[in-house]
Amino acid sequence: IGKGISIASIGYLLSLRSLKVIPIKFDPYLNTNAGILAPREHGEVFLCNDGSETDLDLGHYERIIGCQVSKNNICTSGTIYKEIIEEQEEGKYLGETVQIIPHVTNKIIEKLKNLGKDNDVVLVEIGGTVGDIESGPFMEAIRQFKRKNPDDVIVALCAPILWVPTIKEFKTKPLQQAVQTMQSCGLQPEVLLCRAEKEIPSKILDKISALTNVPKDAVFEALDVKSIYQVPIEFYNRHVDDLIIDKFHLPRNGLRIHKYKDLVEKYVNCDDLTSVKIGILGKYDNCDEAYLSLKEAVFHAGVAANVKVEIEWISAQEIEQIKDHKAFCKIFDSIDGLIVPGGFDSKGIEGKIKGISCVRNKKIPFLGICLGLQCAVIEFARYVGLETANSQEFDPDTKYPVVHFIAGQEKLKKKSSNMRLGAFDCDISKDSLAFDLYKKKTISERHRHRYEVNDLLIDEKFYKEGFRITGRYLESNLVEIIELDRDKHPYFIATQAHPEFKSRLTAPSPLFLGLIEAAKNKKFANKEEEIDK
Ligand code: GLN
Repeated sequence: IGKGISIASIGYLLSLRSLKVIPIKFDPYLNTNAGILAPREHGEVFLCNDGSETDLDLGHYERIIGCQVSKNNICTSGTIYKEIIEEQEEGKYLGETVQIIPHVTNKIIEKLKNLGKDNDVVLVEIGGTVGDIESGPFMEAIRQFKRKNPDDVIVALCAPILWVPTIKEFKTKPLQQAVQTMQSCGLQPEVLLCRAEKEIPSKILDKISALTNVPKDAVFEALDVKSIYQVPIEFYNRHVDDLIIDKFHLPRNGLRIHKYKDLVEKYVNCDDLTSVKIGILGKYDNCDEAYLSLKEAVFHAGVAANVKVEIEWISAQEIEQIKDHKAFCKIFDSIDGLIVPGGFDSKGIEGKIKGISCVRNKKIPFLGICLGLQCAVIEFARYVGLETANSQEFDPDTKYPVVHFIAGQEKLKKKSSNMRLGAFDCDISKDSLAFDLYKKKTISERHRHRYEVNDLLIDEKFYKEGFRITGRYLESNLVEIIELDRDKHPYFIATQAHPEFKSRLTAPSPLFLGLIEAAKNKKFANKEEEIDK
Protein backbone atom coordinates (compact mmCIF):
# COMPACT_ATOMS: atom_id res chain seq x y z
CA ILE A 1 0.00 0.00 0.00
CA GLY A 2 3.01 2.30 0.38
CA LYS A 3 3.79 2.79 4.06
CA GLY A 4 7.52 2.34 3.55
CA ILE A 5 7.71 4.84 0.70
CA SER A 6 5.54 7.29 2.67
CA ILE A 7 7.77 7.09 5.74
CA ALA A 8 10.86 7.46 3.59
CA SER A 9 9.41 10.43 1.70
CA ILE A 10 8.45 12.25 4.89
CA GLY A 11 11.89 11.43 6.24
CA TYR A 12 13.56 12.92 3.19
CA LEU A 13 11.56 16.15 3.41
CA LEU A 14 12.38 16.51 7.10
CA SER A 15 16.05 15.82 6.45
CA LEU A 16 16.04 18.56 3.81
CA ARG A 17 15.09 20.88 6.66
CA SER A 18 18.31 19.91 8.43
CA LEU A 19 16.57 17.62 10.89
CA LYS A 20 18.26 14.38 11.89
CA VAL A 21 15.80 11.65 11.06
CA ILE A 22 16.00 7.91 11.53
CA PRO A 23 13.53 5.26 10.35
CA ILE A 24 12.60 1.98 11.98
CA LYS A 25 10.45 -0.79 10.62
CA PHE A 26 8.55 -3.01 13.01
CA ASP A 27 7.64 -6.17 11.17
CA PRO A 28 5.06 -8.26 12.99
CA TYR A 29 6.21 -11.61 11.55
CA LEU A 30 8.23 -14.07 13.60
CA ASN A 31 11.31 -14.53 11.43
CA THR A 32 14.48 -13.27 13.01
CA ASN A 33 16.68 -13.34 9.95
CA ALA A 34 15.55 -11.76 6.68
CA GLY A 35 18.68 -13.26 5.07
CA ILE A 36 16.95 -16.60 4.78
CA LEU A 37 13.58 -15.43 3.46
CA ALA A 38 13.00 -16.39 -0.17
CA PRO A 39 13.62 -13.39 -2.46
CA ARG A 40 11.04 -14.74 -4.90
CA GLU A 41 8.33 -14.29 -2.27
CA HIS A 42 9.62 -11.47 -0.09
CA GLY A 43 11.73 -9.48 -2.49
CA GLU A 44 15.44 -8.98 -2.18
CA VAL A 45 17.46 -9.19 1.00
CA PHE A 46 18.73 -5.68 1.60
CA LEU A 47 22.21 -5.68 3.05
CA CYS A 48 23.38 -2.95 5.42
CA ASN A 49 26.88 -1.66 6.06
CA ASP A 50 27.00 -3.47 9.40
CA GLY A 51 26.27 -6.78 7.66
CA SER A 52 22.62 -7.02 8.70
CA GLU A 53 20.47 -8.80 6.15
CA THR A 54 17.16 -6.98 6.12
CA ASP A 55 13.89 -6.27 4.39
CA LEU A 56 13.78 -4.37 1.11
CA ASP A 57 11.95 -1.49 2.77
CA LEU A 58 15.22 -0.55 4.42
CA GLY A 59 16.61 -0.08 0.94
CA HIS A 60 13.84 2.42 0.25
CA TYR A 61 14.74 4.24 3.46
CA GLU A 62 18.41 4.48 2.50
CA ARG A 63 17.76 5.46 -1.10
CA ILE A 64 15.04 8.01 -0.46
CA ILE A 65 16.06 9.50 2.88
CA GLY A 66 19.75 9.21 2.11
CA CYS A 67 20.48 7.85 5.60
CA GLN A 68 22.43 4.76 6.55
CA VAL A 69 20.56 1.99 8.33
CA SER A 70 21.64 -1.03 10.36
CA LYS A 71 20.15 -3.80 12.45
CA ASN A 72 18.81 -1.09 14.78
CA ASN A 73 16.39 0.03 12.08
CA ILE A 74 14.46 -3.20 11.73
CA CYS A 75 12.79 -5.24 14.37
CA THR A 76 10.44 -8.18 13.97
CA SER A 77 8.19 -9.73 16.59
CA GLY A 78 10.59 -12.65 16.34
CA THR A 79 13.63 -10.60 17.34
CA ILE A 80 11.75 -9.01 20.23
CA TYR A 81 10.45 -12.31 21.58
CA LYS A 82 13.88 -13.88 21.13
CA GLU A 83 15.56 -11.11 23.13
CA ILE A 84 13.01 -11.38 25.90
CA ILE A 85 13.17 -15.16 26.06
CA GLU A 86 16.96 -15.03 26.22
CA GLU A 87 16.84 -12.39 28.95
CA GLN A 88 14.35 -14.51 30.83
CA GLU A 89 16.62 -17.53 30.54
CA GLU A 90 19.53 -15.46 31.80
CA GLY A 91 17.44 -14.62 34.85
CA LYS A 92 16.65 -10.97 34.11
CA TYR A 93 12.98 -11.31 35.06
CA LEU A 94 13.50 -13.46 38.14
CA GLY A 95 10.18 -14.39 39.63
CA GLU A 96 8.15 -12.23 37.27
CA THR A 97 5.58 -13.54 34.83
CA VAL A 98 6.90 -12.51 31.42
CA GLN A 99 4.06 -11.09 29.32
CA ILE A 100 3.24 -9.20 26.15
CA ILE A 101 2.21 -6.26 28.29
CA PRO A 102 4.45 -4.91 29.77
CA HIS A 103 7.53 -6.84 28.64
CA VAL A 104 7.05 -6.86 24.88
CA THR A 105 5.57 -3.36 24.76
CA ASN A 106 8.36 -2.00 26.99
CA LYS A 107 10.95 -3.51 24.70
CA ILE A 108 9.33 -1.80 21.70
CA ILE A 109 9.28 1.53 23.52
CA GLU A 110 12.90 1.06 24.58
CA LYS A 111 13.92 0.60 20.93
CA LEU A 112 12.15 3.82 19.97
CA LYS A 113 13.76 5.75 22.80
CA ASN A 114 17.21 4.46 21.91
CA LEU A 115 16.86 5.69 18.34
CA GLY A 116 15.53 9.00 19.60
CA LYS A 117 18.67 9.68 21.64
CA ASP A 118 20.78 10.87 18.69
CA ASN A 119 18.02 12.01 16.35
CA ASP A 120 15.41 14.72 16.04
CA VAL A 121 12.65 12.57 14.56
CA VAL A 122 12.15 8.80 14.61
CA LEU A 123 9.95 7.52 11.78
CA VAL A 124 8.22 4.30 12.70
CA GLU A 125 6.61 1.97 10.21
CA ILE A 126 4.41 -0.80 11.55
CA GLY A 127 4.26 -3.53 8.95
CA GLY A 128 1.10 -5.39 8.03
CA THR A 129 -2.44 -4.07 8.35
CA VAL A 130 -4.03 -2.39 11.34
CA GLY A 131 -6.13 -5.00 13.11
CA ASP A 132 -3.76 -7.90 12.39
CA ILE A 133 -3.41 -10.09 15.48
CA GLU A 134 0.35 -9.94 15.07
CA SER A 135 0.65 -6.15 15.08
CA GLY A 136 -1.35 -5.71 18.31
CA PRO A 137 1.66 -5.36 20.66
CA PHE A 138 3.16 -2.66 18.41
CA MET A 139 -0.06 -0.64 18.38
CA GLU A 140 -0.33 -0.99 22.13
CA ALA A 141 3.26 0.15 22.62
CA ILE A 142 2.61 3.23 20.51
CA ARG A 143 -0.58 3.93 22.48
CA GLN A 144 1.29 3.78 25.78
CA PHE A 145 4.15 5.88 24.48
CA LYS A 146 1.80 8.49 23.04
CA ARG A 147 -0.16 8.67 26.31
CA LYS A 148 3.03 9.57 28.16
CA ASN A 149 4.35 11.89 25.44
CA PRO A 150 1.26 13.28 23.69
CA ASP A 151 3.03 16.12 21.90
CA ASP A 152 5.94 14.02 20.72
CA VAL A 153 4.02 11.45 18.71
CA ILE A 154 2.04 11.87 15.51
CA VAL A 155 0.03 8.87 14.40
CA ALA A 156 -0.48 8.59 10.65
CA LEU A 157 -2.48 6.04 8.75
CA CYS A 158 -1.88 5.05 5.16
CA ALA A 159 -5.03 3.49 3.70
CA PRO A 160 -6.63 2.95 0.30
CA ILE A 161 -9.57 4.73 -1.24
CA LEU A 162 -10.95 2.45 -3.88
CA TRP A 163 -12.01 3.65 -7.30
CA VAL A 164 -14.68 1.29 -8.61
CA PRO A 165 -14.73 1.75 -12.39
CA THR A 166 -18.02 -0.10 -12.97
CA ILE A 167 -20.00 2.45 -10.96
CA LYS A 168 -17.52 5.31 -11.42
CA GLU A 169 -17.35 5.97 -7.70
CA PHE A 170 -14.78 6.20 -4.95
CA LYS A 171 -15.34 3.92 -1.98
CA THR A 172 -14.03 5.15 1.34
CA LYS A 173 -15.32 2.27 3.50
CA PRO A 174 -11.97 0.36 3.72
CA LEU A 175 -10.32 3.56 4.93
CA GLN A 176 -13.10 4.31 7.39
CA GLN A 177 -12.90 0.82 8.79
CA ALA A 178 -9.13 1.01 9.09
CA VAL A 179 -9.55 4.21 11.12
CA GLN A 180 -12.16 2.55 13.33
CA THR A 181 -9.87 -0.42 13.92
CA MET A 182 -7.10 1.96 14.85
CA GLN A 183 -9.41 3.81 17.21
CA SER A 184 -10.32 0.52 18.86
CA CYS A 185 -6.58 0.13 19.62
CA GLY A 186 -6.82 3.45 21.48
CA LEU A 187 -5.13 5.41 18.71
CA GLN A 188 -6.64 8.30 16.80
CA PRO A 189 -4.88 8.95 13.49
CA GLU A 190 -3.82 12.56 13.16
CA VAL A 191 -2.68 12.35 9.56
CA LEU A 192 -4.33 10.34 6.80
CA LEU A 193 -2.46 9.39 3.66
CA CYS A 194 -5.23 8.36 1.29
CA ARG A 195 -3.82 6.09 -1.38
CA ALA A 196 -5.75 6.26 -4.63
CA GLU A 197 -5.12 5.70 -8.28
CA LYS A 198 -6.55 9.07 -9.32
CA GLU A 199 -7.42 12.45 -7.91
CA ILE A 200 -9.95 12.37 -5.09
CA PRO A 201 -12.71 15.03 -5.25
CA SER A 202 -12.60 17.55 -2.41
CA LYS A 203 -16.05 16.60 -1.16
CA ILE A 204 -14.86 13.04 -0.59
CA LEU A 205 -11.92 14.32 1.41
CA ASP A 206 -14.41 16.45 3.43
CA LYS A 207 -16.48 13.38 4.10
CA ILE A 208 -13.42 11.41 5.20
CA SER A 209 -12.42 14.17 7.55
CA ALA A 210 -15.91 14.35 9.06
CA LEU A 211 -16.16 10.60 9.55
CA THR A 212 -12.69 9.99 10.93
CA ASN A 213 -12.13 12.99 13.20
CA VAL A 214 -9.03 13.94 11.24
CA PRO A 215 -8.97 17.67 10.38
CA LYS A 216 -9.29 18.33 6.64
CA ASP A 217 -5.80 19.89 6.41
CA ALA A 218 -4.37 16.57 7.62
CA VAL A 219 -6.23 14.42 5.11
CA PHE A 220 -3.82 14.04 2.20
CA GLU A 221 -4.22 12.45 -1.16
CA ALA A 222 -1.37 10.05 -1.83
CA LEU A 223 -1.85 9.22 -5.47
CA ASP A 224 -0.14 6.56 -7.55
CA VAL A 225 2.85 7.98 -9.40
CA LYS A 226 5.16 6.63 -12.06
CA SER A 227 8.16 6.42 -9.77
CA ILE A 228 8.58 6.18 -6.01
CA TYR A 229 11.05 9.07 -6.20
CA GLN A 230 8.13 11.36 -7.06
CA VAL A 231 6.44 10.74 -3.71
CA PRO A 232 8.57 13.23 -1.72
CA ILE A 233 7.71 15.87 -4.33
CA GLU A 234 4.00 15.02 -4.13
CA PHE A 235 4.11 15.29 -0.34
CA TYR A 236 6.06 18.54 -0.56
CA ASN A 237 3.47 20.01 -2.95
CA ARG A 238 0.71 19.06 -0.51
CA HIS A 239 2.63 20.39 2.54
CA VAL A 240 2.65 17.10 4.43
CA ASP A 241 5.99 18.06 5.93
CA ASP A 242 4.76 21.53 6.97
CA LEU A 243 1.96 19.95 8.94
CA ILE A 244 4.34 17.58 10.73
CA ILE A 245 6.84 20.35 11.48
CA ASP A 246 4.08 22.53 12.93
CA LYS A 247 2.58 19.74 15.00
CA PHE A 248 5.98 19.03 16.53
CA HIS A 249 6.65 22.77 16.99
CA LEU A 250 9.88 22.43 15.05
CA PRO A 251 11.39 25.39 13.18
CA ARG A 252 10.20 25.77 9.59
CA ASN A 253 13.71 25.87 8.09
CA GLY A 254 13.88 26.60 4.40
CA LEU A 255 13.96 23.57 2.17
CA ARG A 256 15.74 23.16 -1.17
CA ILE A 257 14.19 20.51 -3.32
CA HIS A 258 14.97 21.88 -6.80
CA LYS A 259 18.01 19.74 -7.54
CA TYR A 260 16.16 16.64 -6.47
CA LYS A 261 13.14 17.63 -8.56
CA ASP A 262 15.35 18.00 -11.64
CA LEU A 263 16.82 14.53 -11.15
CA VAL A 264 13.41 12.95 -10.68
CA GLU A 265 12.18 14.75 -13.76
CA LYS A 266 15.01 13.15 -15.72
CA TYR A 267 14.28 9.77 -14.17
CA VAL A 268 10.60 9.88 -15.06
CA ASN A 269 10.64 11.63 -18.40
CA CYS A 270 13.40 9.76 -20.17
CA ASP A 271 11.31 8.52 -23.08
CA ASP A 272 12.87 10.91 -25.61
CA LEU A 273 16.44 10.00 -24.67
CA THR A 274 18.59 7.43 -26.46
CA SER A 275 17.81 4.07 -24.99
CA VAL A 276 20.26 1.34 -24.07
CA LYS A 277 19.25 -2.19 -23.33
CA ILE A 278 20.85 -3.92 -20.37
CA GLY A 279 20.45 -7.67 -20.01
CA ILE A 280 20.28 -9.08 -16.51
CA LEU A 281 21.18 -12.74 -16.59
CA GLY A 282 19.88 -14.12 -13.32
CA LYS A 283 17.87 -16.75 -11.57
CA TYR A 284 14.51 -15.24 -10.71
CA ASP A 285 11.65 -14.56 -13.08
CA ASN A 286 9.68 -12.37 -10.65
CA CYS A 287 12.65 -10.10 -11.02
CA ASP A 288 11.44 -6.67 -10.08
CA GLU A 289 11.49 -7.18 -6.33
CA ALA A 290 14.05 -9.97 -6.14
CA TYR A 291 16.67 -7.65 -7.69
CA LEU A 292 15.27 -4.34 -6.49
CA SER A 293 18.50 -2.55 -5.55
CA LEU A 294 20.17 -3.79 -8.71
CA LYS A 295 17.39 -2.39 -10.85
CA GLU A 296 17.52 0.91 -9.00
CA ALA A 297 21.29 1.13 -9.46
CA VAL A 298 20.87 0.61 -13.21
CA PHE A 299 18.29 3.40 -13.43
CA HIS A 300 20.34 5.78 -11.26
CA ALA A 301 23.23 5.31 -13.66
CA GLY A 302 20.90 5.86 -16.62
CA VAL A 303 19.87 9.26 -15.25
CA ALA A 304 23.50 10.27 -14.75
CA ALA A 305 24.43 9.09 -18.25
CA ASN A 306 21.42 10.80 -19.86
CA VAL A 307 19.96 7.70 -21.39
CA LYS A 308 16.82 5.68 -21.02
CA VAL A 309 17.66 2.23 -19.75
CA GLU A 310 15.57 -0.75 -20.72
CA ILE A 311 16.12 -3.92 -18.76
CA GLU A 312 15.84 -7.30 -20.39
CA TRP A 313 15.55 -10.11 -17.86
CA ILE A 314 17.24 -13.23 -19.13
CA SER A 315 16.57 -16.45 -17.27
CA ALA A 316 19.81 -18.38 -16.89
CA GLN A 317 17.98 -21.64 -16.37
CA GLU A 318 15.97 -21.22 -19.55
CA ILE A 319 18.83 -20.32 -21.84
CA GLU A 320 20.89 -23.16 -20.41
CA GLN A 321 18.61 -25.51 -22.34
CA ILE A 322 19.65 -24.06 -25.71
CA LYS A 323 22.16 -26.50 -27.11
CA ASP A 324 22.99 -24.77 -30.39
CA HIS A 325 25.90 -22.38 -29.77
CA LYS A 326 24.90 -19.90 -32.48
CA ALA A 327 21.31 -19.73 -31.26
CA PHE A 328 22.58 -19.27 -27.71
CA CYS A 329 24.86 -16.38 -28.61
CA LYS A 330 22.13 -14.70 -30.63
CA ILE A 331 20.28 -13.92 -27.39
CA PHE A 332 22.95 -11.36 -26.58
CA ASP A 333 22.81 -9.59 -29.94
CA SER A 334 19.99 -7.31 -28.87
CA ILE A 335 21.58 -5.99 -25.67
CA ASP A 336 24.11 -3.19 -25.17
CA GLY A 337 25.40 -4.44 -21.84
CA LEU A 338 25.09 -7.42 -19.51
CA ILE A 339 24.94 -7.80 -15.75
CA VAL A 340 25.29 -11.14 -14.02
CA PRO A 341 24.04 -10.46 -10.51
CA GLY A 342 24.64 -12.16 -7.17
CA GLY A 343 23.01 -15.42 -6.28
CA PHE A 344 23.20 -18.70 -4.43
CA ASP A 345 23.05 -22.36 -5.48
CA SER A 346 23.77 -23.97 -8.81
CA LYS A 347 20.57 -23.16 -10.73
CA GLY A 348 21.42 -21.68 -14.10
CA ILE A 349 25.15 -21.47 -13.40
CA GLU A 350 26.23 -22.99 -16.71
CA GLY A 351 23.88 -20.59 -18.52
CA LYS A 352 25.54 -17.67 -16.77
CA ILE A 353 29.05 -18.90 -17.57
CA LYS A 354 28.18 -19.42 -21.23
CA GLY A 355 26.49 -16.01 -21.35
CA ILE A 356 29.65 -14.37 -20.03
CA SER A 357 31.68 -16.19 -22.66
CA CYS A 358 29.43 -14.72 -25.38
CA VAL A 359 29.66 -11.14 -24.16
CA ARG A 360 33.42 -11.47 -23.70
CA ASN A 361 33.82 -12.64 -27.28
CA LYS A 362 31.35 -10.16 -28.71
CA LYS A 363 32.88 -7.31 -26.67
CA ILE A 364 29.55 -6.43 -25.11
CA PRO A 365 30.02 -4.38 -21.90
CA PHE A 366 29.82 -6.61 -18.84
CA LEU A 367 29.46 -6.12 -15.10
CA GLY A 368 29.66 -9.11 -12.78
CA ILE A 369 28.41 -8.84 -9.24
CA CYS A 370 29.46 -11.28 -6.54
CA LEU A 371 28.34 -14.58 -8.08
CA GLY A 372 28.74 -12.74 -11.40
CA LEU A 373 32.44 -12.25 -10.62
CA GLN A 374 32.80 -15.89 -9.63
CA CYS A 375 31.19 -17.01 -12.90
CA ALA A 376 33.48 -14.68 -14.86
CA VAL A 377 36.53 -16.22 -13.22
CA ILE A 378 35.29 -19.75 -13.95
CA GLU A 379 34.58 -18.78 -17.56
CA PHE A 380 38.03 -17.29 -18.03
CA ALA A 381 39.73 -20.27 -16.41
CA ARG A 382 37.96 -22.62 -18.83
CA TYR A 383 38.92 -20.30 -21.70
CA VAL A 384 42.63 -20.46 -20.83
CA GLY A 385 42.60 -24.25 -20.61
CA LEU A 386 41.39 -25.27 -17.14
CA GLU A 387 38.45 -26.94 -18.81
CA THR A 388 36.69 -28.33 -15.75
CA ALA A 389 37.26 -25.24 -13.59
CA ASN A 390 34.39 -24.51 -11.20
CA SER A 391 33.45 -23.13 -7.81
CA GLN A 392 33.41 -25.48 -4.85
CA GLU A 393 29.89 -24.25 -4.26
CA PHE A 394 28.71 -26.07 -7.41
CA ASP A 395 31.25 -28.88 -7.64
CA PRO A 396 32.95 -29.57 -4.30
CA ASP A 397 35.39 -32.02 -5.94
CA THR A 398 36.35 -29.94 -8.95
CA LYS A 399 39.94 -30.41 -10.12
CA TYR A 400 40.32 -26.65 -10.58
CA PRO A 401 38.53 -24.85 -7.72
CA VAL A 402 39.12 -21.33 -9.02
CA VAL A 403 36.44 -20.21 -6.55
CA HIS A 404 36.70 -21.87 -3.16
CA PHE A 405 35.65 -21.73 0.46
CA ILE A 406 38.17 -20.41 2.96
CA ALA A 407 37.39 -21.70 6.43
CA GLY A 408 37.80 -19.11 9.15
CA GLN A 409 36.74 -16.35 6.81
CA GLU A 410 33.62 -15.68 8.84
CA LYS A 411 35.72 -14.61 11.82
CA LEU A 412 36.56 -11.42 9.95
CA LYS A 413 33.24 -10.17 11.26
CA LYS A 414 31.54 -11.40 14.35
CA LYS A 415 28.54 -13.09 12.85
CA SER A 416 27.08 -16.45 13.53
CA SER A 417 26.71 -17.50 9.91
CA ASN A 418 29.68 -18.47 7.79
CA MET A 419 29.17 -15.60 5.38
CA ARG A 420 31.34 -12.60 4.82
CA LEU A 421 28.79 -9.89 5.54
CA GLY A 422 28.89 -6.12 5.56
CA ALA A 423 31.15 -3.37 4.31
CA PHE A 424 34.80 -4.12 3.62
CA ASP A 425 37.55 -1.93 2.18
CA CYS A 426 39.07 -2.67 -1.17
CA ASP A 427 42.44 -1.41 -2.38
CA ILE A 428 42.37 -0.55 -6.07
CA SER A 429 45.41 -0.74 -8.35
CA LYS A 430 46.23 2.50 -10.06
CA ASP A 431 46.14 2.33 -13.83
CA SER A 432 43.04 0.17 -13.98
CA LEU A 433 39.47 0.51 -15.18
CA ALA A 434 38.32 0.20 -11.55
CA PHE A 435 40.49 3.15 -10.53
CA ASP A 436 39.25 5.27 -13.43
CA LEU A 437 35.68 4.54 -12.37
CA TYR A 438 35.97 5.01 -8.61
CA LYS A 439 38.71 7.65 -8.89
CA LYS A 440 39.93 6.45 -5.50
CA LYS A 441 42.56 4.08 -4.16
CA THR A 442 40.46 2.78 -1.26
CA ILE A 443 36.77 2.10 -1.56
CA SER A 444 34.24 0.36 0.64
CA GLU A 445 31.35 -1.77 -0.60
CA ARG A 446 28.99 -4.25 1.00
CA HIS A 447 29.53 -8.02 0.83
CA ARG A 448 27.37 -11.09 1.25
CA HIS A 449 29.07 -14.29 0.18
CA ARG A 450 30.84 -17.42 1.34
CA TYR A 451 33.19 -18.24 -1.51
CA GLU A 452 36.33 -16.45 -2.71
CA VAL A 453 38.50 -16.38 -5.78
CA ASN A 454 41.35 -18.88 -5.42
CA ASP A 455 44.16 -16.80 -6.86
CA LEU A 456 46.72 -19.59 -6.46
CA LEU A 457 45.22 -21.00 -9.65
CA ILE A 458 45.41 -17.71 -11.51
CA ASP A 459 48.68 -17.61 -13.35
CA GLU A 460 50.51 -16.39 -16.46
CA LYS A 461 47.99 -18.07 -18.77
CA PHE A 462 45.33 -15.72 -17.43
CA TYR A 463 47.47 -12.59 -17.46
CA LYS A 464 48.69 -13.16 -20.99
CA GLU A 465 45.08 -13.07 -22.18
CA GLY A 466 44.44 -9.76 -20.46
CA PHE A 467 42.91 -10.92 -17.15
CA ARG A 468 43.72 -8.62 -14.25
CA ILE A 469 43.06 -8.54 -10.52
CA THR A 470 42.70 -4.85 -9.76
CA GLY A 471 41.07 -4.76 -6.33
CA ARG A 472 41.99 -6.57 -3.13
CA TYR A 473 40.99 -6.67 0.51
CA LEU A 474 44.42 -6.02 1.95
CA GLU A 475 43.96 -7.55 5.39
CA SER A 476 43.75 -11.06 3.98
CA ASN A 477 44.62 -10.38 0.35
CA LEU A 478 41.23 -11.48 -0.98
CA VAL A 479 40.34 -10.78 -4.60
CA GLU A 480 37.74 -8.02 -4.80
CA ILE A 481 37.77 -6.78 -8.39
CA ILE A 482 38.79 -8.42 -11.66
CA GLU A 483 38.78 -6.88 -15.13
CA LEU A 484 40.04 -7.42 -18.65
CA ASP A 485 42.64 -5.18 -20.26
CA ARG A 486 40.98 -2.45 -22.21
CA ASP A 487 42.72 -3.46 -25.41
CA LYS A 488 41.00 -6.85 -25.10
CA HIS A 489 37.52 -5.65 -24.16
CA PRO A 490 35.94 -2.17 -23.86
CA TYR A 491 34.25 -2.85 -20.51
CA PHE A 492 34.61 -6.12 -18.67
CA ILE A 493 34.71 -5.78 -14.91
CA ALA A 494 33.41 -7.73 -11.94
CA THR A 495 33.32 -7.22 -8.22
CA GLN A 496 32.98 -9.58 -5.29
CA ALA A 497 30.90 -6.90 -3.56
CA HIS A 498 27.35 -5.65 -4.08
CA PRO A 499 27.77 -2.02 -5.17
CA GLU A 500 24.03 -1.80 -5.95
CA PHE A 501 23.21 -1.35 -2.27
CA LYS A 502 25.04 1.96 -2.04
CA SER A 503 23.79 3.46 -5.29
CA ARG A 504 21.60 6.55 -4.99
CA LEU A 505 19.70 8.65 -7.49
CA THR A 506 21.91 11.51 -6.33
CA ALA A 507 25.10 9.40 -6.34
CA PRO A 508 25.08 6.48 -8.79
CA SER A 509 27.46 3.60 -8.29
CA PRO A 510 30.66 4.05 -10.39
CA LEU A 511 30.62 0.48 -11.73
CA PHE A 512 27.02 0.82 -12.94
CA LEU A 513 27.65 4.23 -14.41
CA GLY A 514 30.69 2.81 -16.22
CA LEU A 515 28.55 0.01 -17.63
CA ILE A 516 25.84 2.35 -18.90
CA GLU A 517 28.39 4.72 -20.43
CA ALA A 518 30.07 1.78 -22.17
CA ALA A 519 26.69 0.49 -23.36
CA LYS A 520 25.91 3.96 -24.72
CA ASN A 521 29.25 4.05 -26.56
CA LYS A 522 28.58 0.64 -28.04
CA LYS A 523 25.16 1.70 -29.20
CA PHE A 524 26.52 4.85 -30.86
CA ALA A 525 29.38 2.92 -32.47
CA ASN A 526 26.86 0.43 -33.89
CA LYS A 527 24.75 3.26 -35.24
CA GLU A 528 27.75 4.85 -36.94
CA GLU A 529 28.66 1.49 -38.44
CA GLU A 530 25.15 1.18 -39.84
CA ILE A 531 25.36 4.67 -41.33
CA ASP A 532 28.74 3.86 -42.94
CA LYS A 533 27.24 0.78 -44.53
N1 GLN B 1 26.99 -17.94 -3.81
C1 GLN B 1 28.17 -17.16 -3.85
C2 GLN B 1 28.89 -17.17 -2.52
O1 GLN B 1 28.33 -17.52 -1.53
C3 GLN B 1 27.86 -15.73 -4.26
C4 GLN B 1 26.98 -15.02 -3.31
C5 GLN B 1 26.38 -13.76 -3.87
O2 GLN B 1 26.34 -13.57 -5.08
N2 GLN B 1 25.88 -12.90 -3.02
O3 GLN B 1 30.04 -16.85 -2.45
